[in-house]
Amino acid sequence: MAKVMILGAGGVGGVVAHKCAQVPEVFSEILLASRTESKCRAIAARSPREIRTAEVDADDVPALTALLKREKPALVIHVALPYQDLHVMDACLNAGVHYLDTANYEPPETAKFEYRRQWEYAERFAAAGLTALLGSGFDPGATNVFTAYLAKHHFDEIRSLDIVDVNGGDHGYPFATNFNPEINIREVTAPCRHWEKGKFVETAPLSRKRRFVCPEGVGEYQVYRLYHEELESLAKHFPSLKEAQFWMSFSDSYLKHLEVLQNVGMTGIAPVMFEGREIVPLRLLKALLPDPASLGPRTRGKTCIGVIARGLKDGQKTLRYLYNICDHQQCYAETGAQAVSYTTGVPAMIGAKLLLTGEWRRPGVWNLEQLDPDPFMADLTRHGLPWKITEDIRF
Ligand code: NDP
Repeated sequence: MAKVMILGAGGVGGVVAHKCAQVPEVFSEILLASRTESKCRAIAARSPREIRTAEVDADDVPALTALLKREKPALVIHVALPYQDLHVMDACLNAGVHYLDTANYEPPETAKFEYRRQWEYAERFAAAGLTALLGSGFDPGATNVFTAYLAKHHFDEIRSLDIVDVNGGDHGYPFATNFNPEINIREVTAPCRHWEKGKFVETAPLSRKRRFVCPEGVGEYQVYRLYHEELESLAKHFPSLKEAQFWMSFSDSYLKHLEVLQNVGMTGIAPVMFEGREIVPLRLLKALLPDPASLGPRTRGKTCIGVIARGLKDGQKTLRYLYNICDHQQCYAETGAQAVSYTTGVPAMIGAKLLLTGEWRRPGVWNLEQLDPDPFMADLTRHGLPWKITEDIRF
């Protein structure tokens, strides 16, 4: 039984709060804190269990430390933005609190995310007897655990990975993002990197595409190669990997709007002068776009996210596809959120649960593939994200 503090009251924060509330035997008390407390209160009002709320700017380390020292949670589930990762890790160290996030650190002024700055905290977390779990969402998160599970049970050696993220959902808007628009657009427009012959190779963003036929009739989609953060940790932790690529589906409408927005400078992150004051174009765009937390009632269709692994087992060439299919409307009926928030929030709750029950408590800073995948995989099925393994996949 432990008290948990959820940081961030967006689409993902709402799902984490809902799912933690369903597991009172682990999360005996829940505090939801964010920059805008009214959003925390709106989430708490929909919860069947009591959720207390607080207002905090996570970039203000002394204020966050003071809140943690006052409230004494065992763990912070950080689902605000990646810009705050290091500040939240600092506050957790100051207050002696475990840490978990779903997106790796990225400085606001440079659109480049990497684990290096967070891995540098490993000794300090270990010395303090604290655990930090990095990237406990779906991708990264479940995809890392899928890889570890396949490596443990199906392969002697994994040689190549294709992580394929299909969102077959339709929200009816010409252009909207399923998670924070600023972070989404920075990710999608960044140079692509993939792992090839033991090193990262850079190409233009979304410059390679392929068709992918999802299992179970979810449909056939165009998927585009882009850089995603789990490639960095998986390439490090599975040295047998020769190739690793990440693919994501986008609708034609999304790509058309993105191209125009890029061409006119609306996705820029450098400040520009506008009517006598500085503004960041991408931040203005975020303010104009639909809030991802509001997409739940409108989104219909399914997500299909999984890992295709190739390698050797008992000297034989082996192929496995491990995947989850998730229905937007079922997620909405359960939590009020669409499937992208749901598939992120459920693994965040599971990572938190395993940390608090001790199964995944290990002082230091860890990516999920470094921990035993079995309890996480069992919990995915138990808590709303059942998965399957097949050899019947072409890609
Ligand atoms: P939203 O933009 O919907 O929510 C972000 C929340 O964080 C908002 O409530 C926002 O407050 C709050 N916040 C922002 N800055 C601060 C701050 N300085 N201090 C306190 N609170 C702050 O984002 P999502 O819910 O869609 O995404 C949340 C996180 O999940 C992101 O980091 C995203 O990258 C990650 N993610 C991970 C995925 C995965 O599979 N691993 C998939 C999808 C998302 P305010 O309301 O005031 O703006």
